[in-house]
Amino acid sequence: MISLDDKKALVTGGGRGIGKAIALRLAEAGCDVGLCDIDLATAEETARLVEEKGRAALAVGCDVSDGAEVGSMFKAFTEKFGGVDILVNNAGITRDALFIRMKEADWDAVLSVNLKSAYLCCKEASRLMMKARSGKIINISSVIGLTGNIGQANYASSKAGLIGLTKSLARELAARNVTVNAIAPGYIQTAMTDNLPDEEKEKFLSLIPLKRLGTPLDIANSVLFLASPLADYITGKVLTVDGGFVI
Ligand code: NDP
Repeated sequence: MISLDDKKALVTGGGRGIGKAIALRLAEAGCDVGLCDIDLATAEETARLVEEKGRAALAVGCDVSDGAEVGSMFKAFTEKFGGVDILVNNAGITRDALFIRMKEADWDAVLSVNLKSAYLCCKEASRLMMKARSGKIINISSVIGLTGNIGQANYASSKAGLIGLTKSLARELAARNVTVNAIAPGYIQTAMTDNLPDEEKEKFLSLIPLKRLGTPLDIANSVLFLASPLADYITGKVLTVDGGFVI
């Protein structure tokens, strides 16, 4: 059993999908959990489930691409919990289109929600973690950030950017005992992937050696590992959790 008793975790985009699974897994391991989501109602529902597991929770409505909203969210979180031990930058969106047709607005939206958000949240969290001389930051990237994908130039760029941020911050914060790692999920069954055409899903499945799609719990388990003392000597790494899709 991995125990994270009384650690304080903050998960962005925790209202549903992978973020929700991460929040609940961390709560099961003993964390108090702050959740933010652009949709407050979904964050509140996850917070209720965290409390059902016997841990304290805080739900905040926040657009993580907005610096002022991220500042208020951290203020609310630190007022309730006193500090942050674990930050999971999970919120993300897709706005797919072939590059030639990709609109500037869709490029900006994806880069803002997927990458600028991590800059904003890491900045707030690293100040607190450096002072505490401990902390774990986990950025949810994607295998697409490693391989690229047709129709996802904006998404791939944002997820590759997260890897650059992870490696740079790992170097900057190591002296203060703060680790920074990324997880690159493969194809995970959530609302984000539900809308893909069946032939696209079949194509992915045929390329996965473990012959199944991933679940939010697969990702939550890897977050739990990286957030735990078992990973104290791991920083600046990208853990692919993809059934062997990228080898
Ligand atoms: P979902 O779309 O199911 O969940 C994303 C969550 O983030 C939603 O609750 C969404 O809110 C929230 N969100 C979106 N925009 C913002 C914002 N601006 N501010 C705050 N919250 C926001 O996606 P997944 O759970 O599938 O994905 C989670 C992460 O994992 C993402 O970063 C994604 O890129 C990454 N990932 C997912 C893969 C997959 O196969 N599913 C594969 C690889 C990586 P709302 O529902 O209200 O829009």
